[in-house]
Amino acid sequence: MRKTFFVFVVAIMALTAMAQQFDDVFENRTLRLDYIFAGNHDAQQIYLEQMCVTPQWAGRKSRLTDVPLKGNGQIQVTDSVTGQVLFVHTFSTLFQEWLATEEATKVSKAFATSYNVPMPKRPVQVTVSLTDFHGKVVTSLTHTVNPADILIRQIGDNGIPYHYIWKGKTLPAVETQNLAAPDQPGQRNYRPTEGPLDGQPDITECIDLAIVAEGYTRAQMGKFYSDCQRVVDALFAHEPFTSMKNRFNVVAVAAESLTSGPSVPHLGRWSNTPVGTHYDTFYSDRYLMTQDIHRLYDVLSGVPFEHIIVLVNSDTYGGGGIYNQLTVTTSDHPTFHQVLVHEFGHAYAGLGDEYFYDDGYESMYPSDTEPWEPNLTTLFDFQSKWADMLPKGTPVPTPPDPKVPNYRKITNEKEQRLLDAATQRVGVFEGGGYQSKGVYRPAQECRMKVNEVSSFCPVCSRAIKRITDFYTSH
Ligand SMILES: [Zn+2]
Repeated sequence: MRKTFFVFVVAIMALTAMAQQFDDVFENRTLRLDYIFAGNHDAQQIYLEQMCVTPQWAGRKSRLTDVPLKGNGQIQVTDSVTGQVLFVHTFSTLFQEWLATEEATKVSKAFATSYNVPMPKRPVQVTVSLTDFHGKVVTSLTHTVNPADILIRQIGDNGIPYHYIWKGKTLPAVETQNLAAPDQPGQRNYRPTEGPLDGQPDITECIDLAIVAEGYTRAQMGKFYSDCQRVVDALFAHEPFTSMKNRFNVVAVAAESLTSGPSVPHLGRWSNTPVGTHYDTFYSDRYLMTQDIHRLYDVLSGVPFEHIIVLVNSDTYGGGGIYNQLTVTTSDHPTFHQVLVHEFGHAYAGLGDEYFYDDGYESMYPSDTEPWEPNLTTLFDFQSKWADMLPKGTPVPTPPDPKVPNYRKITNEKEQRLLDAATQRVGVFEGGGYQSKGVYRPAQECRMKVNEVSSFCPVCSRAIKRITDFYTSH
């Protein structure tokens, strides 16, 4: 008994110490930093556009300076007086993807982006940096944030209705939000039935995932909410999300579009939507993305969030996922389920694409650099990857099993079972990250490679589990 009590006391003390550390330096509010990333293939610059503060902080309150994945960029908050690092966040950007295109050799462009950090109590220095394919910093900006600065714009509720589709945990019964009376689908205050848990969602303990309506008119909000339920069902049908469902909150943000559906430039069709997504990003038909993260953060100003899915009301294939930035996916394509989970794998867990072409993007994963993506390796530092999961005696590279049917030619359940079984056999298969040579993936097939399989490979699953633990296990 005494030992149990002692452990209990130590645990309480540890929790208190962590909470104090956060509370010592940060307020329970969010500082939103808006930047412009600009330049071309040869030179890049970062500019601070504006700063905003929102009423709640939904991010982590412990392990503030740890970095689970390196990403292609970093934002670091340090104490102006002591120089102590207080908070670190990593990410990837659409701007850096664009730098790899031919267009970036011909013209300079600017991309708007935003990051959330906890609101400091005292003046801090913020450093934003971007890295190249070798992990080297290519540009950075350091600026001061004085919390007393009168030009830090105070924002919050923007009138856009939102509704929790899933609450992983709720706070003990307290005064609940005063919601307007539910109305009929298509009317402004329409809200579907509350989820299985009553009460306020626990935004500190859970990862907060916001789904933003894009291309849904006011009359289509009933469809939006039911599409959000399909998002939740698809995501949590996949392990390890299934077993970790109580670590997530999912909130649906009903931003109205004036016109239905997305913009499709190659058809000459432009739609007036809240966050300006469109197909043909980088002139690629299927690349559906938004370049304007500021607008997206404006839509979310009243909602506590850590990850974003922009759900586009369309039956055309398209989407994308950028690590710690956003996921974009369409609501009604037959591969909705698979594409959503694949793209969220990029945005949430930093997973790389395990598919490859015979040409293109050769410079993205140079052989003298280990990729930071947990499911790709150049063998430069394989020990840091899934070497511990490799069955003894597995040859490197691992030859593909010829008995596994081609995913494009599945005709019956037996073949499907063989294909699915291939996702669970860990090896070091050559081809991945868009390169047929020099980049290796952990399984012959995986959700991060093809739509035709039903699950993530064990290495991707572990990566998702690790990042979820990082944000939710204290
Ligand atoms: Zn995988």
